[in-house]
Amino acid sequence: MTQIFEPVTIGRKDPRYIELSHSDNHRFAVEPNEFVIPSTADEVVHALRKAVTDGLGVACRSGGHCGQNFVGAPQRDLVLDMHNLNTVSLSDGGVRVGAGATVDQVQKALFRRWNAALPLGACSAVGMGGLVAGGGYGPLSRQLGLAVDHLRAVEVAVVDDSRNVRLVTATADDTGELGDLFWAHTGGGGGNFGVVTAYEFRSPQHLATEEIGLPRAASRLHVKKVVYPWAMFDESSFVTVIRRFFEWHERHSAPGTPESSLFATFFVKHKSAQVLELMVQQDADVDPDGRILEQFVAGLTEGLPVMGIARGGVMSWLTGTRYMSQADCGDVMGARTASKSAYHRTTPTDDQLSVLYRHLNSDYPGFASYVMLNSYGGEINRRASSETASPQRDSIAKSSWFCGWLESELDGLHLGWLRGLYEEFFAGTGGVPVTGGATDGCYINYPDLDLTDPAHNRSDQPWQHLYYKDNYARLQTAKRTWDPLNTFHHSMSIAP
Ligand SMILES: Cc1cc2nc3c(=O)[nH]c(=O)nc-3n(C[C@H](O)[C@H](O)[C@H](O)COP(=O)(O)OP(=O)(O)OC[C@H]3O[C@@H](n4cnc5c(N)ncnc54)[C@H](O)[C@@H]3O)c2cc1C
Repeated sequence: MTQIFEPVTIGRKDPRYIELSHSDNHRFAVEPNEFVIPSTADEVVHALRKAVTDGLGVACRSGGHCGQNFVGAPQRDLVLDMHNLNTVSLSDGGVRVGAGATVDQVQKALFRRWNAALPLGACSAVGMGGLVAGGGYGPLSRQLGLAVDHLRAVEVAVVDDSRNVRLVTATADDTGELGDLFWAHTGGGGGNFGVVTAYEFRSPQHLATEEIGLPRAASRLHVKKVVYPWAMFDESSFVTVIRRFFEWHERHSAPGTPESSLFATFFVKHKSAQVLELMVQQDADVDPDGRILEQFVAGLTEGLPVMGIARGGVMSWLTGTRYMSQADCGDVMGARTASKSAYHRTTPTDDQLSVLYRHLNSDYPGFASYVMLNSYGGEINRRASSETASPQRDSIAKSSWFCGWLESELDGLHLGWLRGLYEEFFAGTGGVPVTGGATDGCYINYPDLDLTDPAHNRSDQPWQHLYYKDNYARLQTAKRTWDPLNTFHHSMSIAP
């Protein structure tokens, strides 16, 4: 019997079109002639085949959390919205996860069915489609590595030079061209090689159960959120607290130590928000009394006239993870946003931290503007740079420089503030966090078009190097083989 594929199709006149035409960042719109919402890999192949046969411009979207307009621009005829490919199931080799699943869906499914966990992102609504392709890190990464360190296979719909569309599975054991395709999905970034329909995870070194071969979830988590009123800081105490955050990570960046089960996110907010907020979690199976976490938190402000207001406690793994997660609702929903990133190999200088203080303490309406400092290192740093396409493997922290606002007429104000801060902080290296010294480039999942512009990136390192370092050439090889017509492209895609 011939099977009929009829994915949901939504055109401009459909009342759902407006909802679909906005992703997480409302600075950009995604306005193709049609959205197609497939529910199976076969439907993806079918829709893609029809699109390329008709010569249509096509892109795909999973969780919609791209910081730039990679999905909406250039103008597309058709966008495949992968949301409905979200099942988490057992496969021959491990656990198969639909590319449209969100972090929250995967975490719940892994935990409830198998008491397992993967190092995914901190934001529950981020989609696996983009997160994994770009490397993927989160609160478990110091203990377990990147999401892609557990990747076993990727299933992708690809378009060859005769416009034939087929579904290909590339595994970690493959060599040659298939090996390149697998490797390209361990940090090359989404929207480059084809449409990922599913990822398969298995990491035998961390068996929770033989059945699935994934890390076991901690039985309990210590979780703590501390807010520090901005009014308590002067420049000296601010610089000291931030310096100590980095110094702790410099001392504890090796894999396999008890300290690598601690992960912290420090929202160093603009003073308009009135507080700085620290979020810390630690595996309570490793440190039942939570001594490492308590010493880390106390050490930040020891001897300073700064006091934090703390809440949290000991929670089961899933509850603790959700308590710490950044939900995309409430005030940030519908916001226009911009972000930049940096990998840090050592502690920034006091002069740089003074720059941070001045910009965050300025008269600028930045209620949703901050620098987010995230723990890095630990298990992430066990791998070599070229083992996966995610090359930054000896950093101690990763920062995200962010602002959010509502009114389009304020774009210039907020973008200007963010650029001013970032470029002055990294003034010694051409306004960007160059690789190989105190910093090690940027994260492709926090894409920043300014890095392509010599007015903002005044270093001698092109944007491709800042994101991919020496891995870019192999990504280009994979691109030439697997997307020879450059069907999948955007403003920062891999050049064939
Ligand atoms: C609020 C917020 C929190 C975040 N937190 C984290 C975090 O904790 N850890 C982390 O590592 N990252 C984090 N990120 C970054 C996130 O990983 C990237 O934005 C990622 O690209 C989002 O994937 P998505 O599927 O949700 O986005 P989308 O906008 O759907 O896609 C992003 C890119 O990937 C492509 N893509 C999407 N699906 C597919 C697919 N199935 N096949 C091929 N290409 C595809 C798109 O075409 C686009 O180019 C965060 C981002 C935001 C906005």
